[in-house]
Amino acid sequence: MIDKILENIDKRIHNNTSVDSSLQTYSHGKVLSVYDGVVISSGLSGCMYGEVVEIKNEEQETLTGIAINLEEDTVGIICLGDYKKVKIGNSTNTTGKIFSVGIGKQVLGRVVDAIGNPIDGKGSIEYSDYAPIEKIAPGVITRKAVTVPLQTGIKAIDSMIAIGRGQRELIIGDRSTGKTQIALDIIANQKKEAERTGNPPVYCIYCAIGQKQSKVAQIVDKLDKMGALEFTVIVNASASDPITMQYIAPYSACSIGEYFRDNNMDALIIYDDLTKHAWSYRQISLILKRPSGREAYPGDIFYLHSRLLERSARLNENYGGGSLTALPIIETQAGDISAYIPTNLISITDGQIFLDKDLFSLGLRPAINTGSSVSRVGGDAQAKAMKQVAGKLKLDMAQYRDLAAFSQFASDLDKTTKDKLNRGARLTEILKQDIFACKSLAHEVLIFYAGINGWLDNIDLNKIAEFEEKFIDFAETTNSDLVKEITTLKDISTLKVKIDDILKKFMESYG
Ligand code: ATP
Ligand code: MG
Repeated sequence: MIDKILENIDKRIHNNTSVDSSLQTYSHGKVLSVYDGVVISSGLSGCMYGEVVEIKNEEQETLTGIAINLEEDTVGIICLGDYKKVKIGNSTNTTGKIFSVGIGKQVLGRVVDAIGNPIDGKGSIEYSDYAPIEKIAPGVITRKAVTVPLQTGIKAIDSMIAIGRGQRELIIGDRSTGKTQIALDIIANQKKEAERTGNPPVYCIYCAIGQKQSKVAQIVDKLDKMGALEFTVIVNASASDPITMQYIAPYSACSIGEYFRDNNMDALIIYDDLTKHAWSYRQISLILKRPSGREAYPGDIFYLHSRLLERSARLNENYGGGSLTALPIIETQAGDISAYIPTNLISITDGQIFLDKDLFSLGLRPAINTGSSVSRVGGDAQAKAMKQVAGKLKLDMAQYRDLAAFSQFASDLDKTTKDKLNRGARLTEILKQDIFACKSLAHEVLIFYAGINGWLDNIDLNKIAEFEEKFIDFAETTNSDLVKEITTLKDISTLKVKIDDILKKFMESYG
């Protein structure tokens, strides 16, 4: 019997079909209490975890809820509608369905709420297909190694913390250190990358959890101006939405992303941010009187995020062949990455991009602390040309920082140390990047080549950005073939002489 039930649940999860009617027991109950969108109902025997429960109020309106807490006599339900309309004594009944959201390409360019309803005033969305918001993550057999790079357009990331398609990379840092900006830059670059290469774009899903409406509106506006909105979906559960919406938003967004993954397309999902998601789950759990553990979070908070992020994967050809890359964002307090939620997320993901408040205030933006940042699969997925040029950059930068800290107090330095400091300072300048100034792989390779091979050693520090711009312009106008060759060949071992030649010519004209 239990086998049959399990098989049945599996069928529902995968096909979103209703339960075999011989097994289905529709049951009824009554609302015992309502707090902050969490309804406790009596009855509902046979109710399953994650099942859709209907709540009928006195006006005969039907509100939808999801069962998330099963106890002997009661069921805890998160209410997805206006929970203020639910009163004690209202009737509840199970439906035998798992909650689903609309999926498909129709949702691109739109802003939707946590359950897939459009909230951008551009009319309704005709969904042709629906998918349950909670799904079991793809198993080992269905997956493929992460080997294709996701070009982010951010020099510091592409050179030292390369991200592969299907990877999960955490963006972590204090308030206002540019976390969202990194995500937006990466989204904007996907559109540019599609134009540059002619390949299909990486579709983007930006899931805003617990943010101010005004901030989300600004983000939509910026993406629209960059022309990136047409490949992007924004799923928004803002700070003013019920916590239940904030809790399910990332799962819905993930289901929307999985459509692309399962249909041989590449997608990128950003959860901004999971700290607020954890807060909403803590709030729900406290109302449900679940025992609280460390920092008052319930014991299954790790599972909450791991089952979400495990759904990001690269699949092999037999199972769809697409990929879903995840960039979860986490906010830290005073740079403390050893707090509960940050450590959880660090261990779930395949690496982290750590943003440092001090670097941000020093003007080193993006404020990526390269010492604490890592990409645990990125090396395999880094473009070959970039690996050839910047393979040692991370180590060099670490040595430079140590040397710079040490030599602060020294008055007399030998020539080798001076040269190293000089080179390091120039490379640091190269790593600075403005917002929405996404770079192509070829441009990144060219400027790193110049920096690492010492062509910038005699250029003033405050002229580096200008040098970069002029040099790239020069290379594009005089040797556009070579730039194209770097893009297509993705290998510069045979092109070094040509690049040196361009640099020589450029230096003559630059003076
Ligand atoms: P919050 O914690 O509020 O979500 P955040 O970490 O997401 O903040 P952002 O909102 O992305 O930070 O950025 C904060 C500010 O820093 C923004 O005004 C943004 O324009 C600016 N900023 C971010 N990156 C850069 C950059 N590379 N160059 C210049 N300004 C930047
Ligand atoms: Mg932000």
